[in-house]
Amino acid sequence: NGRASVRPVERHGAPPRPAGRSRVRVAVRLRPKNSEDLAHGADFDSCVELQPECKKLKLKKNNWSCESYRFDEVFSENASQKRVYESVLEGYNGTVMAYGQTGTGKTYTVGRLGNDDPSEGGIMVRALEHILSVMSLETDSVAISFLQLYLESVQDLLAPEKTNIPIVEDPKTGEVSLPGAAKVEIRDLEHVFQLLQIGEMNRHAANTKMNTESSRSHAILIIHIQRSSRIEDGSNTSLPNGTDNLFPDNLPLVLKSKLLIVDLAGSERIDKSGSEGHMIEEAKFINLSLTSLGKCINALAENSPHIPTRDSKLTRILRDSFGGTARTSLIVTIGPSSRHFSETSSTIMFGQRAMKIVNTIRIKEE
Ligand code: ADP
Repeated sequence: NGRASVRPVERHGAPPRPAGRSRVRVAVRLRPKNSEDLAHGADFDSCVELQPECKKLKLKKNNWSCESYRFDEVFSENASQKRVYESVLEGYNGTVMAYGQTGTGKTYTVGRLGNDDPSEGGIMVRALEHILSVMSLETDSVAISFLQLYLESVQDLLAPEKTNIPIVEDPKTGEVSLPGAAKVEIRDLEHVFQLLQIGEMNRHAANTKMNTESSRSHAILIIHIQRSSRIEDGSNTSLPNGTDNLFPDNLPLVLKSKLLIVDLAGSERIDKSGSEGHMIEEAKFINLSLTSLGKCINALAENSPHIPTRDSKLTRILRDSFGGTARTSLIVTIGPSSRHFSETSSTIMFGQRAMKIVNTIRIKEE
């Protein structure tokens, strides 16, 4: 039974949590073959072979060359959304990110609403449903901000007139916030669907206006939780996966926590040949944010004293997801076809580097 926690950002009157170390948890998910894969003979020409029971994945370059990689979790094309959600959040709430080539299932994994078929719902909806199911909305509050990061500009998906939202960092605690972004308090699951749908529509509209695709931008859902019900009613309700360890009975506290769920832009290299102006800018900025994410991951994996989080807005927003009190999960998504061997291979390497990151849990005494 993993002891999960929604990462505490602010604790009033609580004793320090014991120091500890937690590795970034990395899962790989294989998308089922689609018609395009089948048309290209993916049945006979898949470049990956999974061994979910030993949490291994084999990547076949050709008949003679094959490498095996271990992850924290290996999800086959048959893995359900429920299993992925449970595994990803177990023990590692805080930040969940999906990384991979466009079309490999990042949005399916994190952003799928599943309002027609609940078994299809992705991590965003499941996390909010889970949180709502264990909180008392009389004494606790759950609010969301939903943002898109495109060309180094943060846009509000719940209040689309807000663009260029600044990222603010508390100089004392290092906590990152976006005070200009709408923060909408959630009433119930129906409301969650409504808001996420509005966010999706605004994302689509903004991208149409800018003449780009959603795969070019990062979507970031921030769930803000403020909880005090334990104090009020002494009830034994707990957040999923053992989050109750943050609420020991003797703590008279109001606890604020933050959960980030990020659907990253497609990791494929953008072909700059023949593209002009806007396209070149786009390629540069997507490369900037994902490249700087990669640099931070490398620096963290190597335990470097300097993590270059200031190089891009993406890494500035994710700054408090790395190191410190963070609990971070990364899901890398891949397709089966050997036609995309090079992108699949680079996605797997990205995941392998992230497997080396260890976050040291340090909570400052107040
Ligand atoms: P990405 O966000 O990486 O660009 P999408 O999530 O949009 O990719 O997925 C591309 C297509 O593949 C979508 O039609 C999606 O429904 C489908 N798909 C992706 N992953 C799965 C999966 N695990 N099971 C079923 N369909 C999937």
